[in-house]
Amino acid sequence: RIVFLNGSFLPIEEARVPFMDRGFLFGDGVYEGIGVLDGRLVDNEAHLERLERSLAEVRIPNPYSPAEWTALEEEIVRRNGMTEGFIYFQVTRGVAERDFFFPEDAKPTVAMFTQAKTIADAPAARTGIAVVTVPDLRWARRDVKSINLLAQVLAKQAAKEAGAQEAWMVEDGYVTEGGSSSAFIVTTGGSIVVRPLSQAILPGITRKSLLRLSQEDGIPLEERRFTVEEAHGAAEAFLTSASNFVLPVVSIDGRPVGEGKPGPITRRLRELYLQMARAPASL
Ligand code: PLP
Repeated sequence: RIVFLNGSFLPIEEARVPFMDRGFLFGDGVYEGIGVLDGRLVDNEAHLERLERSLAEVRIPNPYSPAEWTALEEEIVRRNGMTEGFIYFQVTRGVAERDFFFPEDAKPTVAMFTQAKTIADAPAARTGIAVVTVPDLRWARRDVKSINLLAQVLAKQAAKEAGAQEAWMVEDGYVTEGGSSSAFIVTTGGSIVVRPLSQAILPGITRKSLLRLSQEDGIPLEERRFTVEEAHGAAEAFLTSASNFVLPVVSIDGRPVGEGKPGPITRRLRELYLQMARAPASL
């Protein structure tokens, strides 16, 4: 596997980050994850805009322009011969003697790798997945895609140990989002419900595209918070993320959602998203 580190493409076994990297010591960095389908980057421009914003919020200079980032992404996909999967990249504040204050002369560390993965024909898309709810223990700036993922590691591990595939995090009785996905329900009246953007959640790029597609398709949308109780009584539920697109949620906390199988609105939305991801960007 070929990865990218600080200006060079090299075999993953040779890629080394210094011990004093602030990503390692402080989690002082941000990241992005982008889906690849048919060898194409999905929603790439929006991911690069979010990266720009995350970096600005934590005051790390963006080492590359969108065109340069795109060239690196395309190159790593090409070098790994990947047609379907996920591109991960992160930018940390760089290497410096351990001290909380920003180092004066550190250069950001840039690391990028790919993970081949079946997304379009993923078995989970046919069966749906189980989620469990857990307390949201994260910091107060969840709109920044920080590499500090300890709360999500614990949340998702708890989900796994409960036999589920994702954790839906809960604050003040309301679902914020998934451990690594945006959370949606569909009401018995057929409306999509999703939490509005704020500092409490990550502005999901798949969420954004999905909302546009659902509006174009005439599906009613309620952009508001929803409680765990409402999710338990929903007609359908699903999640979105760059690495899964749209995935049906068929059980929440061990209770079946609706009929306990992927519902018609979720299946329709997944189809619309796949069409969009496959179509040439100019269409
Ligand atoms: N929410 C969180 C906390 C995430 O980590 C992610 C993706 O990793 C998402 C939502 C989904 O965002 P996107 O659709 O941009 O992948």
